[in-house]
Amino acid sequence: MSEETGAPSERTTLKRGANRAVYASDDVKAVLDAGYVAHVGVSTAQGIIVLPMAYGRTEDTLYLHGSAANAMLRAGSDTDICVTVTLVDGLVVARSAFHNSMNYRSVVVRGHARKVTEDVEILDALKIITDHVADNWDSRREATDKELKATLVIALPLTEASAKIRDGGPVDDEADLGGPEWAGVIPLTESWGEPIPIDDLVEGTPVPQPLLDLQD
Ligand SMILES: Cc1cc2nc3c(=O)[nH]c(=O)nc-3n(C[C@H](O)[C@H](O)[C@H](O)COP(=O)(O)OP(=O)(O)OC[C@H]3O[C@@H](n4cnc5c(N)ncnc54)[C@H](O)[C@@H]3O)c2cc1C
Repeated sequence: MSEETGAPSERTTLKRGANRAVYASDDVKAVLDAGYVAHVGVSTAQGIIVLPMAYGRTEDTLYLHGSAANAMLRAGSDTDICVTVTLVDGLVVARSAFHNSMNYRSVVVRGHARKVTEDVEILDALKIITDHVADNWDSRREATDKELKATLVIALPLTEASAKIRDGGPVDDEADLGGPEWAGVIPLTESWGEPIPIDDLVEGTPVPQPLLDLQD
């Protein structure tokens, strides 16, 4: 860890926009908890690929899962990968287009991914990912052995991670202040809608409370 910046490694140290760097593990985790989609970058025999995926985390590990046939996850087991999570909070409109920006929270995690092989950890990881995304593992039937065999889980340590956070208004050049252009922030908010039951749902089946709570 760098004593000067608090960054966990040289390669995760923000150089540009360093004032927006956050290395505290609680801040990194808060961004991960607020996001749903990770972009996972892996170098494969066919070239580099970055794919969107769901994820979940414990205190020290980030988990990804997919089909046992998943080409990217297979390539990303026992190798270095990079995972990013990005939340866009608003459009920052400056007087000059040069200073236009976005408000955002993003995390980059780099490290060596391992294939999870122990059944207990696989089940824990699947619950963690499921609950992070939809909070409904406990209200579903148990996974079958066949389903577990068809699933690949990989784990990435959360030790080498950085967050970058921008908020607030535009920062224009002094010469442009008082100019005729509109400047400010357009916030971007996301919200879940009303649950839509599937046509063949057994009548009277209630929506699990955690899914209703998503709308809060
Ligand atoms: C919001 C979101 C969440 C997802 N969560 C998961 C998850 O948790 N687990 C999981 O396994 N998959 C998830 N997916 C799907 C994932 O992005 C991949 O499509 C899938 O994992 C198959 O990967 P593969 O390497 O086996 O693909 P292959 O079918 O082998 O890929 C072949 C080629 O298809 C193209 N391709 C593959 N995926 C995509 C894509 N998503 N968009 C555009 N082109 C693509 C690429 O060019 C790739 O080289 C998610 C997708 C989205 C959008």
